[in-house]
Amino acid sequence: MVSKGDFHTHSTASDGRLTPTQLVDLVASRGVQYHALTDHDSTEGVAEAREAAKRHPDFHLIPGVEFGTDIEGAEIHMLGLFLSPDDVELQTVLKELRDGRLDRGEGIVNKLREQGKMIEWSRVQQIAGNAAVGRPHIAQALVEAGYVKKVADAFDTLIGRNGTAYVERKKMTPAEAVQFILQRGGLACWAHPADMGITNEQVEPILIGLKEAGMQAMEVFYKDYSGATIEFLHQLCIKYDLLPLGGSDYHGIFGNEERLPGDIPLPDSSIERLLELGRTLPNKDLVP
Ligand SMILES: [Zn+2]
Ligand SMILES: [Zn+2]
Repeated sequence: MVSKGDFHTHSTASDGRLTPTQLVDLVASRGVQYHALTDHDSTEGVAEAREAAKRHPDFHLIPGVEFGTDIEGAEIHMLGLFLSPDDVELQTVLKELRDGRLDRGEGIVNKLREQGKMIEWSRVQQIAGNAAVGRPHIAQALVEAGYVKKVADAFDTLIGRNGTAYVERKKMTPAEAVQFILQRGGLACWAHPADMGITNEQVEPILIGLKEAGMQAMEVFYKDYSGATIEFLHQLCIKYDLLPLGGSDYHGIFGNEERLPGDIPLPDSSIERLLELGRTLPNKDLVP
């Protein structure tokens, strides 16, 4: 059963495999009606996605961004929905974040080379194309050169947080990301809270701080979360009056195991509440 909404996807504007047009065509063809494009540190895919969206009746595109932030020993990803590509201040900050990715990407490649994994930085940039360089691009170069079998293996052993070639990147704190999204008129949603080194026990105290910073939503219906995880996160949303959202986090690079857009148990009530909440935001013009 395909959900009517998918609020977390990636295109070639960051580390996804499909162009914004191909992605929108895929998402719409699956019967999803409300689709957020949430590339890492970028809204560069939105203009093209909007053009593609025109071809699909009953399909609505929501422009968004996924921000990477750090806490000690773990990562918190924050989705900003209803963010305008025409917002100059937003674009200035996104550009800074992308420049930081370049430095970090080169740092990782240098470390890999010191460890005998002789991939080329120029090849990583080629793979990224016009997109902001991300670790998945480095992973693809490692697969291509035969150092690992698949992208996930590269993360597990080399470039993930506990990998031998991991390099930190300068980022915002989670609360700063929430506040920035709100300042730019959008809605802040904690992405995949039960991942990235965060234990279930840590979720609630972190959530309390983010709620205080103004965060309005949290991903509950995420990719392959188990029923128990979904229930755990849903209860927290009820307790703290957060909107339970969700998405496939579709990248198109993880092979057969990857969930397709809309392939998540997102209830219609979440979509209705999202649109309602969106209409109360400064960026209400971006709400379908
Ligand atoms: Zn993420
Ligand atoms: Zn993502």
